[in-house]
Amino acid sequence: MNDALLDHVSRTVDRQRLLETAIALIEVPSPTRSAGAAANRLEEILTADGFPVQRHAADWPEAPIVLAVLDSGRPGPTLQFDGHLDTVHLPFVPPRVEGDTLYGSSSADMKGGIAAALEALRVLRTLDALPAGRVLLTAHDHHEGPWGDGRQVRAMIREGLVGDGVLLPEYLAEPLPVAGRGVAIFQATVQREGAPVHEVLRPPGTPDVLVAGAQLVNQLHTWNERLAKNSHPLAGCDSAFVGMLQSGGIYNQSPTECIVQGTRRWVPPTGGAAIEAEFSQLLTEFSGATGTEIALEFTVQGSAYQIDPDIPLVSAFQRAHSALTGSPLSMGAKPFVDDGNTFVSEAGIPALTHGPAATGAHTPNEAVPVEELVRVAKLYALTAVEFCGGP
Ligand SMILES: [Zn+2]
Repeated sequence: MNDALLDHVSRTVDRQRLLETAIALIEVPSPTRSAGAAANRLEEILTADGFPVQRHAADWPEAPIVLAVLDSGRPGPTLQFDGHLDTVHLPFVPPRVEGDTLYGSSSADMKGGIAAALEALRVLRTLDALPAGRVLLTAHDHHEGPWGDGRQVRAMIREGLVGDGVLLPEYLAEPLPVAGRGVAIFQATVQREGAPVHEVLRPPGTPDVLVAGAQLVNQLHTWNERLAKNSHPLAGCDSAFVGMLQSGGIYNQSPTECIVQGTRRWVPPTGGAAIEAEFSQLLTEFSGATGTEIALEFTVQGSAYQIDPDIPLVSAFQRAHSALTGSPLSMGAKPFVDDGNTFVSEAGIPALTHGPAATGAHTPNEAVPVEELVRVAKLYALTAVEFCGGP
């Protein structure tokens, strides 16, 4: 990468404009499934900037996705910047700046990152820096679980509203994740026929759902120790975890159901369907052995994935990172699940999560250093030049 480009990009990123964009997005509350007003705000900002904007329902007409394109007019790959506008359902904290830090709901997760990606788009256009191809900016709702189910990202994939590589400006500044575990939330309800009954009045042979639930917890715990042997050099290992066991009314009454809730996490390359089938088989055998009925809800939040560290997207990112900081970013695993898992595992589109070193995601104390937003804007613009222009 030539030094002149780095210099131009660094000078053109406008800290104040970026900050104002982030604040304009953050000040519109957007709990998951209600991100329509925030999406409208983003459309207004892009339109005022002169970018043509498309809206697509993408299976959630309450908040159609926002899509803007910067096209070089020359053939080449498309790099997509993708972010979610929705937030977890916590009390709204309005935006405020103290010192060099921006606070407020979704400043970290992830409207700050979206504002940085948009600033990168402005810079690329101002400098006419895109040598070939296109940059696509997309933003959507339905990300945060359990309220959202990821339907808009799946619809974007189905409708071809995607690039050849994706950058997601979530709150992860290092490492550069090239693998991640999948996660599913399960709820197994151990049930029996009949009504709750005094312990001494139970008909003979009445199944004890509470004991069966406890046995299930025990069995999952033992299974977890075996699952740990299934490991991946970056992503870690498989696990089964129980976080909740719920049953019983009073001390001497036999209940009719016992609920066991937890997570099942797994390493690549296994797909979510195989993991669900295996879990369901385990419960079928358990219910046969204990004489109980078990109802299972199994929701895959995101599948396990890995990407080849030698693909063009990773090398483009690393060239940009080296130009900006003097060295490539260390590679590792993604600690959480985000829409990148879906792009890779369900569409085969390489996706890298990289954003500001922000804090407080999923709490009322979100914060992002403004300098981090500036850094991400520069890095995204440079990565686009490298990815769309080729090595
Ligand atoms: Zn997020």
